[in-house]
This record gives sequence, structure tokens and C-alpha cells, in this order.
Amino acid sequence: MTEEEKAAQPKVTPELLKRVFSYLEPYWKQLALVLVCIAASSVFNILPSIFTGKIIDKGLIGRDMRLLVIYIIMSLSVTLLVNLIGVAESYLNSWIAQHITFDMRNQMYRHLQMMSQRFFTSNNQGDIITRMTSDIDGVESVITSTFRSILSNSITLVFALVAMFRKSWVLALLGMAVIPLFVLPTRRAGKTRWTLTREAQEANDEVNGILNETLSVSGQLLVKLFGRENHEYERYRSVNERMVSLNIKERMAGRWFFMVLSTVTNIGPMLLYFVGGLLMMKYDSSLTVGDITVLVALLGKTYMPVNSLLNIQVDWMRSMALFSRIFEYFDMRPEVTTPHRPTPMKNITGSVEFSHVDFWYEKGRQILKDVSFKLESGKSMAIVGPSGSGKSTIINLIPRLYDVTGGNVRLDGVDVRAIKLDLLRQSVGIVSQETYLFNGTIRENLLYAKPDATEEDMIQACRRANIYDFVQAQPDGLDAMVGNRGLKLSGGEKQRISIARVLLKDPALLIFDEATSALDSISEKKIQDAIEPIIKERTSILIAHRLSTILAADEIFVLKDGRIVEHGQHRDLVALGGVYTELYETQFSRPEE
Ligand code: ATP
Repeated sequence: MTEEEKAAQPKVTPELLKRVFSYLEPYWKQLALVLVCIAASSVFNILPSIFTGKIIDKGLIGRDMRLLVIYIIMSLSVTLLVNLIGVAESYLNSWIAQHITFDMRNQMYRHLQMMSQRFFTSNNQGDIITRMTSDIDGVESVITSTFRSILSNSITLVFALVAMFRKSWVLALLGMAVIPLFVLPTRRAGKTRWTLTREAQEANDEVNGILNETLSVSGQLLVKLFGRENHEYERYRSVNERMVSLNIKERMAGRWFFMVLSTVTNIGPMLLYFVGGLLMMKYDSSLTVGDITVLVALLGKTYMPVNSLLNIQVDWMRSMALFSRIFEYFDMRPEVTTPHRPTPMKNITGSVEFSHVDFWYEKGRQILKDVSFKLESGKSMAIVGPSGSGKSTIINLIPRLYDVTGGNVRLDGVDVRAIKLDLLRQSVGIVSQETYLFNGTIRENLLYAKPDATEEDMIQACRRANIYDFVQAQPDGLDAMVGNRGLKLSGGEKQRISIARVLLKDPALLIFDEATSALDSISEKKIQDAIEPIIKERTSILIAHRLSTILAADEIFVLKDGRIVEHGQHRDLVALGGVYTELYETQFSRPEE
């Protein structure tokens, strides 16, 4: 094994096992029942082999028709019983497995929902989905197959060995002598399969990543517009090809191992017939033909569990790897959490203060430097600045999508980190640059902000967001579908729906991150007409690219390279001849001119 492979192998510590078993704990009653079923069927499974001895010795050799029939019926009845128990056990087993994965899936979804924005921006989406789906599905097979196999094979093995040693310890020992031959190939195959499984899993994550990126609406648009279909196809094909070869290798690793095992397992019975025959014929032993037949049959029953138990080492490691991958996610703590003792707050007015705020997304690359400003409640401010200067970053810090790395952000005079998270997020409404609408109707998208909104509330919000005419013109009105991510609507319509959505939410502080993409002047005017009265009546921050938006604000802050370099009124800033003047002359879009 290479160093890298050794490092990738999960350490099966008592803590890990305790954690895995903690998921089984709530179902201990059902598990106990499964255990009883397994024990019963393992014992009953041995009986037909013992009856075979009786059939030969008492029935066939003893020429007793009555006993022959009795033993045949007994053997058949036991087989039927074993199978019936098997059905009950399968049902119980899948019931438990399904309930455990149900718990795990819910726990994982809840946990992922709590993870901070950084987690989603820095982790591969495919990887997140894989852990949520196939890793947790894998746990089901661990319970229905691996755990079950360990239990039933151990019990069968013990009973078969006891029965064999009671018949003839010499022959029992002889049969067992072949076992060490299993160990070596099992260990080798286990390691190979482990490495291959991990590689296949990684390739699978990569495939999911590609699918997520390129089959999403925006991804497809990009692929089409840049004519990258063939390139993407090749990329997909090559990972897919790697996965095919890894999967074949993995299956074959198991297959070779199986071939060696089945050859070795055949040596045992022949050895028993030979030595048993020798004992019976030459040394006048009390052994009967039936005894030797029973021993050979029992030996068969021991090889299977030994084989499976050794094989299980491979599955066991695989299962532990699965659990480790899942627990790795569970162990990631959300960066942003609600405070233990939140400051009680009533009637938030939305005043905001940044005091000496520093911030970086990645250590070593500071984005905001010593940013301080104050926005009184009821007032509005515009933030302007070159692209990448950190405007969106400033607003990300208010609802704590990220936490500051220095200084503090206060809402109504209270550090946002001391405010209950859901209260904070309720109090801040953002119309973001990239409008996100869920695939559904306009109504559903509006209700997302306020599930108990009445028809009247919605119409009112649409009117104020200047989108009601559009809604009315739709044959289905509010029930018109917006399409995947709202792509059936124009950029301006989407923005106005998201303004209506935020109005329904009715936050104390409204943040409007103006889209940089050009809208036609009619669209722009509609948005402008919608937001102007809104910002007059509540505390608002506008990230502005258009002169009309900038002029609507009470004060303007100019950001450059993460610092506030100028602030004041439009007229004064233009007269200053600094960054603002430059932006004014080169960048602000002025459809009204
Ligand atoms: P624009 O006007 O183009 O939207 P902006 O002023 O809003 O730009 P921000 O989005 O705040 O700029 O980005 C500021 C800097 O932070 C950029 O250099 C960007 O590369 C970086 N940045 C933004 N988001 C992240 C992130 N999630 N992880 C790492 N760096 C980021």
C-alpha cells in the first residue's frame, strides 16, 4: 500500500464504531428480533446436514423405510422453516435499514442547511450531492448485508464447528487445516478493492460535478454559447471511461479472489473422504458412511461463513469508509451560528453601523479594510465602486452570510453576532444581483417570503414592485409558471418579482444589489419607479451602478480596493475630482441622458 492509500484508509477506532452503532440504538428491539431470527435459522440450517447422516445410516444402510420417510420429512420441514424465518428477517432488516437511512438523510439535510455560505461556495456541488445520496444509500446495504452477514455467519460457523467436533475431532481438525490458505488472498483482495473503491468514488464525484455544472440551465447556456459541446463531451467521456475501467478492476479483484477460494474449498471435502475412508476401512473405526457424509456437509457449511467472514473484512473497510465520509460532513461545524445568549431585541429599525471592519474570504487576501460607516434608520445609502471592490461583500456581512474577520457590524446598535440568527435574517431583505426564483408559479415564489400572505398582500406587493401589469397580462395570472430558475422571464421581470417578494417579507433593512447587466431603459425605469418610493420609507442600502439609483440615496459611499475612499452627496463628490468623478464619467449608466 502506498503512503497515500494508507492515509486514505479510515481508522476504525472505538469512537467510530460507537458512533456507527449509535444509529442502530433506537431500533434495538427490532434488532434483537433480527438476532433471534438469525440465530434460529443458523441452527436450523445445520439440521438438514445432520438428518442426511441419519437418512444414510438409519434409512438407506439400515433399510428402514419408516425412518427414511421420517428423516426426509423432518429435513424438508426444517428447510421450509428456515426459509420462512428468512422472509421475516429480510422484512425486519430492510425496515431497520430504511429507518436508519431515513434518520441519517434528514440529519444530513438539516446539517447542510445550517452550513455557512463558505461551505457551498468552496465545496464541489457534485460531492455534496453524492454524500447526500449514494453514500447514505450505501449505509443501507451495510446494514442489510454487512452487519447481517457478520451475525449470521458467526453463529452458523460456531454451530457447525461444534457439531463437527462432536462427530470426529480428527476429521474436524483436518477440515479446518485448509483455512489458513484463505487468509492470504483475502487480505490482498481486500486492499486492492479498497483502493479501487475509493478511486471509483472519486471518479463518481467528478462525473456528478460535470453533470451538475454542464446540465444546469446556466451551464448549458455557457456550453452552447461558447460551442464547447465537444469539449464537454470529451471531458465527460474520459471520466466515464476511467470509472468503467475502475469498476471492472474492482469486480475482477473480487472475482480472482473468489476463484482461489473456491478451488481451495474443494480440497477440504476430498481430504475428508480420503482420511475418513482410511480411518473407517483400515483402522476399524466406529465411523459410519453417514458420519463422513455429515462431516463433509458440515464442512461445506463452515467454509461458506469463513469465506464470507474473511470477505467481510473488505466490505467492512468499505462500510467504515462510507461512514467516515458521512461523519466527515457531520463534523464540519457551521461557521455562522446563532448566539447562545442572544440580545433581546424589539422593533428593529434597520440602522446599520460598520466599525473598522476587516474581512477576507481566504486568508492572506484581504477584501475589506477598515470599513466604517453609519446608516441611520429610515435613511438610504448608495455604495458605488469599481467591480470587485467589495460592494457585495459588505452586504454579505450584514445578514451574516459570512462573519467579519475584524471590527464589527451592528444592527440597531447590537453586534449582529449577538442577534438571534433567524431574527437577524428576518430583519434584512436582499434583492440580489443574480435573482433566484424557484421553478414554480409566481405565487409560489412570492409565498416563499411570507407563507401566510393573502391574495391581497400579493397583489399589493406586485403593484408596488411595478410587476402587476405583467402578472395581469398572464393567462394564469399569479399562477403563471416562471420556468427553471425563472428563465421564462426577462431579467427585468425577474428583478421586479424579487422586489415584490422582498416587500412581502417586509424587512426593517432593505438591500438592493443592482444588477450590472444592462436592462433596456423601459425596464430600468420600471425598476426605478418601484424602488424609489420603497427606499424613501425604510432603511436601505443600494449597491448602485446607475446614476438614477445613486441619486435616490441620501448619502453615497465610494469603495475602492476594499476601502471607503470618499463619501457625501453627488454634487460634492463630482466636484472632488477623485474616484467618484472617474466612475461618474466612465461607468455609471445614464439612460436618462
Ligand atoms: P461587482 O460590482 O462586480 O459585483 P463587488 O464590488 O460587489 O463587484 P465582491 O463581489 O464583493 O465585489 O468581491 C470582492 C472580491 O472578493 C473580489 O475580488 C472577488 O474575487 C472576491 N470574492 C467574492 N466572493 C468570494 C468568495 N466566495 N470566495 C473568495 N473570494 C471571493
